[in-house]
Amino acid sequence: MTKTPPSPWPKRIGKGIGKTVLGLALLLALGCALISAGDHTLPIGPEPAGLATLPAAQPPQGLAFTTLQTSQSKGAAEALIVGGGRWWVHRRPVQVAVLVRHPKGQLLFDTGLGRQVDAQFAVNNLFHRQVFAYERGDHLPVADQLQRQGWPLKGISMIVPSHMHWDHVSGLPDFPDAEVWATPAEREEAGHAHAPAFLHSQFDGVKHWRELRFDGPPVLGFAHSHDVFGDGSVLLLPLGGHTAGQVGMLLSLPSGQRYLFTGDVTWAIEGFHKPADRSWLLRRILPLDHDPAANQAAIVHIHQMMQRHPQITVVPAHDENVLKTLPHFPELRG
Ligand SMILES: [Zn+2]
Repeated sequence: MTKTPPSPWPKRIGKGIGKTVLGLALLLALGCALISAGDHTLPIGPEPAGLATLPAAQPPQGLAFTTLQTSQSKGAAEALIVGGGRWWVHRRPVQVAVLVRHPKGQLLFDTGLGRQVDAQFAVNNLFHRQVFAYERGDHLPVADQLQRQGWPLKGISMIVPSHMHWDHVSGLPDFPDAEVWATPAEREEAGHAHAPAFLHSQFDGVKHWRELRFDGPPVLGFAHSHDVFGDGSVLLLPLGGHTAGQVGMLLSLPSGQRYLFTGDVTWAIEGFHKPADRSWLLRRILPLDHDPAANQAAIVHIHQMMQRHPQITVVPAHDENVLKTLPHFPELRG
């Protein structure tokens, strides 16, 4: 028969430690509950005019898209990523580029983290380097992933960043020949802004800017649009709020499937489902949005669009769970 070894702690100390741990756990739970109490779902107003009508599209054969993951954040509790989220679920936002292959040209929507990200990121202070820490893991910059598969980098003729925050345009220097599309409002904001949100080393060297003007009709209740290829297959929509000139992309495939890429209106799809903003605590600590009210209006608008058109797949730029449902380069979906 084995004999239990005597505890290294006298009984009274052992009980004391137990009580302290229980007390700390209760305090933590209370803290979480208090923080979450500040988060509310957003009020839903009347449906935007024109939301019910799907835009016409004639997607050509050969049109297809894929995604290229470049890295992943160390992450945080879901309750910080989205108001009303779960404290016990750890979320790890991803940094991704979307590649659209159209017979008239290849387009990147966002670039994820590029080849020079470590040098670009080094200008941040210690606090921001911790908050925005990223891990490459097995993932490569988009340019390297393309080259490995024999895709010429010069084939990427257009880059449309959803917005110019550092985790979306880090790869611009890897594609010096590409035309970079941005709204005047986005260029203006980025030009005057600084780390950690905007890193000048990423976009000051861009040679070919293309001014993005929303010269097309209203689409899905958004005030106007821009039709990239003239066939309705790739429509850019104004989603300003998170930044001054954030852009969404509505992609219509030959299969009839449609995807709306929503940049950073929310970081997780749950933000649109609820609908809810990022947690109020995080919004207090970090100035996350250029125009918080406009961003919240965009959240509600997309929530209403999902109710009306559940067949449209909505893709927040950083949602690691939605990414799992999308094709991964070199697989394409058309
Ligand atoms: Zn982002």
